[in-house]
Order: sequence, then structure tokens, then C-alpha cells
Amino acid sequence: MPLTANDPKRKSWLHVPKNSDFPIQNIPFGVFLTRDDIITIGTRIGETAVDLGALHQLGYFKGIDLTDDIFLQDTLNDFIADGRKTWRLVRNRVSDLFLEGNDELRKHKDHCKEVLFRLDEIEMQLPVDVGDYTDFYASKEHATNVGSLFRDPENALLPNWLHIPIGYHGRSSSIVPSGTPIRRPIGQTKPGDDGKPGFGPSKLLDFELEMAFITTATNDLGKRVPIKEAEENIFGLVLFNDWSARDIQAWEYVPLGPFLGKSFASTISPWIVTLDALQPFRTNGPKQDPKPLPYLQQKDNMNYDIHMQAAIQPKGSKETVVSNSNFKYMYWSMAQQLTHHTVNGCNVRSGDMMGSGTISGPTEDSYGSMLELSWKGTKPLKLNDGSERKFIHDGDTIIMRGYCEKDGLRLGFGECSGRVLPARE
Ligand code: MN
Repeated sequence: MPLTANDPKRKSWLHVPKNSDFPIQNIPFGVFLTRDDIITIGTRIGETAVDLGALHQLGYFKGIDLTDDIFLQDTLNDFIADGRKTWRLVRNRVSDLFLEGNDELRKHKDHCKEVLFRLDEIEMQLPVDVGDYTDFYASKEHATNVGSLFRDPENALLPNWLHIPIGYHGRSSSIVPSGTPIRRPIGQTKPGDDGKPGFGPSKLLDFELEMAFITTATNDLGKRVPIKEAEENIFGLVLFNDWSARDIQAWEYVPLGPFLGKSFASTISPWIVTLDALQPFRTNGPKQDPKPLPYLQQKDNMNYDIHMQAAIQPKGSKETVVSNSNFKYMYWSMAQQLTHHTVNGCNVRSGDMMGSGTISGPTEDSYGSMLELSWKGTKPLKLNDGSERKFIHDGDTIIMRGYCEKDGLRLGFGECSGRVLPARE
């Protein structure tokens, strides 16, 4: 089915500011509370939120096979489970309705009043009920940096890393939408000279600059997903801040990997940008050497060129951008991750979320965590207000952004932000 919504020549009759992340070519999906306190599924064009539940009730999706209440839900899980053909029909239809020159909706002022909202009239919610969340470790630069800092610079990459997309099962209950405050975690840390473990608020609180993809119901238990079908099962992407307490992590991670140093919170951007919308921004990933096993071998252009940014905004002052990275640096593609995830027959369900792992680039200003940017606290970063940071202070807001740009077309993810509150002792 053609992705007519992706046509770069399209313009909307809704106002779209220059450099907006949400031109008519984006049409992301999200869940929000309306001014009347009703929860609905919607999309966004420019600075306007569109209530898809109300549009559907008014008959604007006639001809598309949708249940009556598909958009009148508090999560996108059921819509995502309908599959790629339905996502495409709906996205194309929304694009047509808001296309310059099409008066079908525009001429009905009463309908417009019912379905269109200013952003300050709505409150974004978590877009999906995340059943399972997996975090990968797919940036070679990040894995090499962390291996050097935590273990041994000579053998920074462990022997399995170039053969397996390494991942671990994370905690889905603490995934929160952008804007939710984050409480500094308390936990155990490495023993000092007295041999007793420390205990208290984390002193080494960090962010991880990641993307996460959201899947449809991918495979039945016991079946696997061939790599050439993997992308059909990916609905879309969000920005993902995998908050991490490095001191808690360093003491607990042997031998089973991350646990409480990660599970206290993860923040996502609220609008899911579909994989369909990202098609114009396909690109090659890093060359894979050695060649992966056959089940992980993929064709070209399986990465996506998405500029990613992290900024720190201390309480009461302006932000400082501390990292500029790119999703294309990811060594293992999303298709390889999903294929590997199901190779043992593990079933993946609608609304499951898979984090990329911290995306660090080759240069020091493209590292995706404070651990790497401050090189474990040995090189403090200078912020615009004159203060220094090795790790995150109470009151700091971490803001992540992501966007794609090519041949005059730009679309993006909006913001993924969270402010750190002092520990509750
Ligand atoms: Mn992570």
C-alpha cells in the first residue's frame, strides 16, 4: 500500500510552524486527556492535537475496517494489534483530511471544534500499556566506553558483543511519559575500606540517550520472526531516557546484569512516530565485521538517520546541550534486535517496548550518558550558567530531542524531559 501520507510536497490547512517536528508528513499517534477530561487516542499536526476518537464517531474513517471504540481507549495496544495495513490506511486518511485544498472536514466548523485542540488544552498520557520492556546495548562506542570504564580498556568489548545483540529484561511498571518528575533512587553501593556496603541516595545519577521501538503482536510462543519480516512488526519509535544510578549499578550488576540501578524510572516522549513516517530517512548502519550468523544477516539501509540530543537545565536557569548523537550509530539494527529476541521462540506482544541502549557516537561530544561525557567524573562538564556537572544534580531537568531532516523535509519526536527530585529518605 502506498504511503501517500509521506509525500514531501503535501501541506496542511492547519498551521505548522517552521522547523516543527510535526508537519503533515509525521502524523504520530498518542493518547491524551481532552479539555473535557475525556481520554482519547489522537495525532498532532503542528501545534494542534487531533482527537481520532471523535473523528471516527463523526464518520471520517468510513471504509476502513475499525471497531467503533478503537480510538476511545486509554492505550494504543488494540490499534497497534490491528497491524500495518490498518496503521497505513488511518495515517493516509488523516493526511488527506488535513491536506491543503480538502474542505471535507474543514467546512464543518462544528466538527472542527469537536476534534481539534490547542496543546495547552490537553495532557499527554503514556501511549501504550507496556507489557514487556527490553533494553539492548547496541552502540559499539557506548559498549566500548563502558567496558573501558568499568572493566578493562584492553578488552573493553566482551567476546560475545560482535555476535549477539546483547539485551536484558527491564521493568515496564516504571516507564513514565515526558514531564513526570523523577525521584532520586536510594540503594546499596560498593563497600568502602571497612568492607560494608554503602546505603543511601545515589550519588551518581545519570541519563541514557536512547530510542525505543514499539511492536505489534509479533509471534506466537515457540515461533520466530525471520529478519526480512521484522520491520513489519514495528509500529513506531519514541525517545527514551533510561535513567541510571551508576553507583547502585556498579555494585549489583555482577553476575546477572542491571537491576535496581535502572528500574526506578524510564521516561519516553509521548508521541509515537511511526516507522512508516521514518522511511525517507533510512540509511546504512556501521559495517558489521565479523559477519553475523545467517539468521541476523540483513539487507542494506536498515538504520535510520535521526539526530538525537540531550540537554541539562539546572533549576532556574537555561539549558545546556551536552550531547549530539545519532540513531544511525547503532551497530545492531532494530530488525536484528527483534529477530534475535524471538529466535528462541519468545513471544512478543502488542505494545512491547525495546530500548536501543545508549546511543553514543564516535566523538566525545556525541556520547549518550554523563558516565561517558564526564569520563566517570574525571572530566566535569561546564554548563552555560557557570556550574559544573559530573552527574545529575537534584533540580536538574534532562531534556532529550530527536529529529530527521532530508531534502527540505523535517520531522521529529518533540521532547522527552524529566526533572530530578531529591531522594525521599
Ligand atoms: Mn539503557
